[in-house]
Amino acid sequence: MSEAATEGIITCPYCGDNVPGLTAIDPGMRLRLQNEAQVESVPENVCEGCFSQLSRLVSKGAVLRAEAQAKEQNRLMLWRNRVQLVKQAKQYLAHKNFSDAAVSYEKYLRVLEIVYEVKSGELSPDMFKNQARAQEMTVITSVYWDLMRIYDTHPRYADRQTKAAEKLAAFVRFTPIFPQILRKAESQTRTAKNPEAFKRFLKISNSSRPRCFIATAAYDGYFSETVLTLCEFRDQYLKSSQSGRKFVRAYYKVSPRIALLLDLLPFLKPTTRKLLTRVARSKFVRNRLNP
Ligand SMILES: [Zn+2]
Repeated sequence: MSEAATEGIITCPYCGDNVPGLTAIDPGMRLRLQNEAQVESVPENVCEGCFSQLSRLVSKGAVLRAEAQAKEQNRLMLWRNRVQLVKQAKQYLAHKNFSDAAVSYEKYLRVLEIVYEVKSGELSPDMFKNQARAQEMTVITSVYWDLMRIYDTHPRYADRQTKAAEKLAAFVRFTPIFPQILRKAESQTRTAKNPEAFKRFLKISNSSRPRCFIATAAYDGYFSETVLTLCEFRDQYLKSSQSGRKFVRAYYKVSPRIALLLDLLPFLKPTTRKLLTRVARSKFVRNRLNP
């Protein structure tokens, strides 16, 4: 084809239209097209129409990215402020300002729901199983406990109190404050305005599987390998014999007190951990878990 035949008519390699001229896509724009708009394989030159369309894609990608960044920033800020909400609530509580305390606690729970992207009332221990997040479960537990006490002030909060009771039961067993909360709940069944809520909490807690109180206290949480090994040993070996079951029952009678002692004297925890790890790794335990 001769130059004369195509003079003044150029075909856009992107859309295939015949156009008067082409515009170059510079390397910077090419990169942003790939990264921000997921547009791969763009020709070096395109027509005016394609160029403006591609530019819009890039700026839309940039806007989306900015929005995502702002959202992430917001989540980070909320996450950092959550501690402040709990502190504030405790101050309100100290001044017997129950309604503001409840609002601050509910805000704290809302922050967790936003950060973990779950619906209202759907926080669960699974989200905090990661060792780095396990400590948060103790905070959540104390928040639900305080809410149970606050909602005990008036019968109109009975529904909220029951919900807090159920959440408390779900979280408390993964925390080292389990024995204290059980003890306090038992005394609340005698003194609370609505003892049913505390009875409900105790019922759910007791029906859940038995806990390794001491190990949980020593490890400040449930999800260490040693604790899991010991629980497995209890369920698979000890419970299969009568004397084993007797031992487990005796253990659950004394262990809440020992766990409490560990929380009162935390310097005993490292030694207890070492001891428990040695037991969990002993030939006796290992051979009975993997016969
Ligand atoms: Zn074009």
